[in-house]
Amino acid sequence: MIACLGRIVHGNDADSKPGDDVSSISKSLDLQGSIDSFDINGVACKDFGGLYSVKPLALIKPFGAEDIARVVKAASQTSHLTVAARGNGHSINGQAMADEGLVIDMRSTEGNHFKFLTINGSPYIDVSGGALWEDVLTRCVSRFGLAPRSWTDYLSLTVGGTLSNAGVSGQAFRYGPQTSNVIELEVVTGKGEITGCSETQNSELFFGVLGGLGQFGIITRARVKLQPAPDMVRWIRVVYSEFEEFSRDAEFLVSQKEGESFDYVEGFVFSNNDDPINGWPSVPLDPDHGFNPVRIPKTAGSVLYCLEVAFHYRNCDHRSTVDTAVSRLLGRLGFVDGLKSQLDVSYTEFLLRVRQAEEHAKANGIWDSPHPWLNLFVSKSDIVDFDRTVFKKMVKDGVGGPMLIYPLLRNKWDNRMSVALPEGEIFYLVALLRFVPKGPLVEKSVAQNHEIVKWCIKEGLDFKLYLPHYQSKEDWKRHFGNQWTRFVERKASFDPMAILAPGQKIFTRTH
Ligand code: FAD
Repeated sequence: MIACLGRIVHGNDADSKPGDDVSSISKSLDLQGSIDSFDINGVACKDFGGLYSVKPLALIKPFGAEDIARVVKAASQTSHLTVAARGNGHSINGQAMADEGLVIDMRSTEGNHFKFLTINGSPYIDVSGGALWEDVLTRCVSRFGLAPRSWTDYLSLTVGGTLSNAGVSGQAFRYGPQTSNVIELEVVTGKGEITGCSETQNSELFFGVLGGLGQFGIITRARVKLQPAPDMVRWIRVVYSEFEEFSRDAEFLVSQKEGESFDYVEGFVFSNNDDPINGWPSVPLDPDHGFNPVRIPKTAGSVLYCLEVAFHYRNCDHRSTVDTAVSRLLGRLGFVDGLKSQLDVSYTEFLLRVRQAEEHAKANGIWDSPHPWLNLFVSKSDIVDFDRTVFKKMVKDGVGGPMLIYPLLRNKWDNRMSVALPEGEIFYLVALLRFVPKGPLVEKSVAQNHEIVKWCIKEGLDFKLYLPHYQSKEDWKRHFGNQWTRFVERKASFDPMAILAPGQKIFTRTH
C-alpha cells in the first residue's frame, strides 16, 4: 500500500494511469468507503473564499472513523503526505485543502452516529463530525422537540468544521460558543489512533481539538448538549445612530440573567445611505416594512448600527404575554424612535434564516463570487477606537455584504480550549463578510483586510483573528501569545509528524 502511495506521489511509472493508482490504493487500504478521484479541478480544490485553489492527490470518501484512521496511518508511513479533513469547505483561505495531499470528505460520514441519550437527566445527541448543523437542527426538532443551544448564523457547516474554530452566533453570549456545548468527542489523531475524549478522559486532546484548527485530530463524533426547542421566535431589529448607545445596550443585554434578556443578541453596521446592499434597505426584516430615513437624527455620521435580537416563545404562550415581555425589554433600550422592524417566524425558520439569502445570492450569481472575509474578536476596551477608524472611515461605504458586530462574554469560554481570545472580559465579534465580484476589487479587499489587521497591531489593540489565517510562524506565535507553547506541545503529542490540516499553514510536515 505504501508503495502505491509512493507511486502516486512520484508519478514515475509512465504507463500507470491515475485511476489505476487510486483503485490500487483503495484496495490495499481496504476502505469501506472509496477513493473518489484525483479531483484535479473538483470540490477539494476550492473553498467558499474562492481566493485559493490547491490540487490534492486524492479525495477520499470514508465510511467512518476506521477508514479515516487507515488513511492517516498510511500517510504517516510516507515521508511527506498530509491529510486534510474537509467539512463543507466553507473556509475562506484554503484551510481545508491539502497541496498534493489527501483530502477526506467528511460529508460522506454525515449520517453516522445520530443517537439521542440522556445523562443525569440532561439530553444529548451524538452526531458525526461530518454532519451539517442544519440536519442536526431539523432532525432534533422534528424527532425530539429538542435542539442544540449554541449556533452559527449559517448552518450548512459541519459539526467538525465549526468545533475546530469555535462556532459563534447570537446565542453564544448565554451558552458560550459551540465548543462550550459538547461534552465528549471521538477523534482520529495524527497518529491514526481513534480516541474518545472529554473533560475527564484524555482532556488534553479534548480541549486541544476544540478550537484547534484541525491540528490535533479529526473529529468523527461529537456529543452535543440539547435543550427544549421553542416553537416561535420574535425577531427584531432596531437602529442606532451613535455607536456608544448601540454598544451600551448590546452589552447590557448580554450581561443580564437568563429570562431577563433576549435569547439572541447580534448587531451589524450599515452605511447611512440608500445603497440596496450596504445601506438602509439592508435593515427591514420584511421588505414591506420599509425604512424611514426621516427618523435618522441629523447628528448621524457615515454609518448606522442595527441591534438584532430574538425572543423565543411557545405556541401556547398568549400573544399579549409575548408582547408585554418584549416591550419591557425594548423599553430599556435607547434606539432611534420609529426605526424598528420585527417578524414572527418559526424557530427553525429563524435558525435557517441565511438560507434565504443564500438562495437569493445563488440566483444572482454572487454566492460563488470571491469572499475575502475578515473575522476578528476585538476587546470592549478598544471597540470604540475600532469603530471610529474602521467602520466610520475605512469601510464606511460597506463591503458588499454584512458587517457584523456583537459582544461576547469571555467567562463562557473555557481557557483550556485552543482558541485564542483577547484579554478583555467582554469582546466583540467583528465580521466583514465581503461579497466581491471577480476582478481587481478582490485584491483591493484583501489589501484592505491586511491594512485593518496592521492598524490593529500598530495601535496595540487587544484583538485576535477569528478563523485565523497567517503565512508565517512568527505571526502564528503572536496570534497564540502565551498559549503558543501549549499549542506546540499538543501538536507534538497528537500529530508529531504534522500530517493534519496542512492548509492552516501552522506546522510543516516532518518525517
Ligand atoms: P471546512 O472549511 O471544511 O474546514 C475548516 C477547518 O477545519 C479545516 O482546517 C479542516 O481541515 C478542519 N476540519 C473540518 N472538519 C473537521 C473535523 N471533522 N475534524 C477536525 N478538523 C476538521 N462561523 C461562526 O463561528 N459563526 C457564524 O455565524 C459563521 N457563519 C458563516 C457563514 C458562512 C456563509 C460561511 C461560509 C462561514 C461561516 N462561518 C461562521 C465560518 C465557519 O464556521 C468556518 O468556516 C468553518 O470552518 C466552516 O465549516 P466547514 O464544515 O465548511 O469546515
